[in-house]
Amino acid sequence: MLEISGLTRRFGPQTVLNDVSLTIAPGQVACIVGPSGCGKSTLLRLVAGLDRPDLGTIAVNGTTLSSPGWALEPHKRQLNMVFQDYALWPHMSVEKIVGYGLDRLDTESRKTRVLALLDQLRISALADRLPSQISGGQQQRVAIARALATDPALLLLDEPLSNLDVQLRLEMRKEFSTLFRSVGKTVLYVTHDPLEAASFADVLVVMNKGEIEQVGTPEALFASPRSAWIATLAGYDT
Ligand code: ADP
Ligand code: MG
Repeated sequence: MLEISGLTRRFGPQTVLNDVSLTIAPGQVACIVGPSGCGKSTLLRLVAGLDRPDLGTIAVNGTTLSSPGWALEPHKRQLNMVFQDYALWPHMSVEKIVGYGLDRLDTESRKTRVLALLDQLRISALADRLPSQISGGQQQRVAIARALATDPALLLLDEPLSNLDVQLRLEMRKEFSTLFRSVGKTVLYVTHDPLEAASFADVLVVMNKGEIEQVGTPEALFASPRSAWIATLAGYDT
């Protein structure tokens, strides 16, 4: 579904991504994990079309989205991204925010679609609230509902839980596991927390210093870790 091949990105003298190749099958939840600064967000931004590679290509369902120095515009990529800080419009109600990308639908269909999404994310009661009037966890659900609204083929999330407290992070992990499977999307999820990733990923992609160190199921990876960083996570328990 997603095919990343030989991707390299340099910023000045620094090679932030070095010859990264990765294939994700349709419907898979893939988590990119690695220490801070290893290039995870840079990789996700390239997939989203917010940045261009120096070398390599990105393709989705056989269509090239990025090649050296070139990138198809983000809104033409059939994907949506959820950011760490949610990026909700402060003056819009939850219902307006979630329905924002649905202007092609008539009022009635849009309302039906938005209410179904609010229900799925368990935020129906908040439809008329502003982002400032709801909690961080609820804001995160709004951001995810908005990203799902246009039914993208690919859902990208960059550290979506890092602004939440520990208790809420643990709850959201469980919720993600159910949610990602129920929507049937291909998901590319970035986190610096491998235990968070392991709690719902089909496949873990371990990055270090701009390169992919290991790819595998959480079980396979923790059973025979190829990186010291993963090996130190002894007694893995999600
Ligand atoms: P991660 O998300 O894994 O924490 P990033 O992809 O954000 O890492 O960053 C990887 C490296 O690339 C960091 O050293 C960062 O400073 C550098 N970097 C990222 N974006 C830019 C940019 N636009 N210009 C210069 N350096 C950048
Ligand atoms: Mg990052």
